[in-house]
Amino acid sequence: MRYGWARAAVWIFSFLALASAPMFLGWIGPTPPRGLGVEIGVALGFVGLGLLALQFLLTGRYRRVATSFGLDSMLQFHREMGMVAVLFVLAHPAVLFVTDLEYLEYLDPRVNLMRALALVGGTGALLLLTATSLWRLAFHLSYERWRLVHGVLASIVIVVGVAHILQVGHYVAEPWKRALFVLIGAGSVGLLLNTRVLRPWRNRGRRYRVESVREERGDAATLVLVPDGHEGMRFLPGQFAWLTLGASPFSLQQHPYSFSSSAEAAPRQLEFTVKEEGDGSAAARAVEPGSSAFLEGPFGYFVPRRDSSIGCVLIAGGVGVTPCRSMLRTFSDREDPRELCLIYANPTLADTIFYEELQELEGALNLRVVFVLEEPPEEWSGEVGVLTDEILARNLPDDPVRHEYFICGPEPLMNIAESTLKELGIPQRRILSERFNMV
Ligand SMILES: Cc1cc2nc3c(=O)[nH]c(=O)nc-3n(C[C@H](O)[C@H](O)[C@H](O)COP(=O)(O)OP(=O)(O)OC[C@H]3O[C@@H](n4cnc5c(N)ncnc54)[C@H](O)[C@@H]3O)c2cc1C
Repeated sequence: MRYGWARAAVWIFSFLALASAPMFLGWIGPTPPRGLGVEIGVALGFVGLGLLALQFLLTGRYRRVATSFGLDSMLQFHREMGMVAVLFVLAHPAVLFVTDLEYLEYLDPRVNLMRALALVGGTGALLLLTATSLWRLAFHLSYERWRLVHGVLASIVIVVGVAHILQVGHYVAEPWKRALFVLIGAGSVGLLLNTRVLRPWRNRGRRYRVESVREERGDAATLVLVPDGHEGMRFLPGQFAWLTLGASPFSLQQHPYSFSSSAEAAPRQLEFTVKEEGDGSAAARAVEPGSSAFLEGPFGYFVPRRDSSIGCVLIAGGVGVTPCRSMLRTFSDREDPRELCLIYANPTLADTIFYEELQELEGALNLRVVFVLEEPPEEWSGEVGVLTDEILARNLPDDPVRHEYFICGPEPLMNIAESTLKELGIPQRRILSERFNMV
């Protein structure tokens, strides 16, 4: 994370305050006293609900949140906090049942059929939400279907949670408190609807046209997009956008892609370079010129500083070179004199996207490109093998601490690069990573 500890502390404090807000809300005003066990059980439920509600904010691509952290860190945090929320919610009835077996009555259909159905259904939805997230492939769910199922189940869970609080009513006798809890539930579902329905709806007039599709090395293709009747989109080099291909912005096939073109060519022209991974990227690669596209963005903080007195070391593997290409093309258009080094690893030369162009950029910029190939052609003078700590260390600039580092590629490459840089004493704030594979 580039931002200082003070900013991180503000985020963490705000997150904890918001997560525990339902609990404090419940405590306001006179409530009949009960045993400690019951109070702890209830508090777990309130905090669980607060954490669940916050998940809608974390994944809603809200610019303030999304530009403070990378998408990968944000989704990682969402996953971890989601698990904590599930544990809190499940601990809520467990503690109550252990404290007083009479609470089992809540699950008894003979006492209250609707209440028992809602609680069993809500808990089932929560368990299914967790299981499908942990083992998506075992459920044979494509990423798109999983996202749809995830949103529906999460909405059911939050609505049942709020309904349960209102129905028990112990802490929410006052109308204003009831209204606030309704707001938490409605607000959470509203955030989801905003992301999945309202935002695409607002975006429908901002259509792009695929001007051309250029085949690249490594089973990749570059899509050139131009705005169709609007001013287009500006971005910072290294950022990404969510791309939807087709005549409607409402498709479930919406994928994040880094801009691969110069930020100076925007907003008139935007390029994305897509490598075939699954159905979504295969469709993107095969798209016909003239087709429509929609973009949501820009997002991301994987962006070099404007200040050219600090050099950049870009460490990429495979299609992870796309944000690096955007940075290099932007520097070239800006005649930026900063010291640059790109260390780019691939299995073979045929996989090395932008191979010729990167060599040309070496002449146009203060740039050194180090190609690393696992299976090099004959008479190869570059590095050989997978990227290791030794290859990395011997190719870094002489004064590595005076540079910022951008790492993007497959997981093993990113892990090696991150740990090597840390061992070399590069401050954490100078190391930025972008992970393409998130689930
Ligand atoms: C910030 C960012 C920038 C990226 N930039 C590029 C790029 O410039 N070029 C490129 O080729 N790829 C890029 N990717 C990866 C690209 O988004 C995935 O390869 C693509 O979504 C795969 O979808 P699929 O249907 O082809 O494959 P699938 O087999 O459906 O998915 C493969 C994996 O891709 C990820 N994925 C799939 N769909 C989504 C989605 N809608 N949202 C988030 N993750 C998803 C999941 O981790 C999934 O397991 C980027 C990813 C991120 C997060």
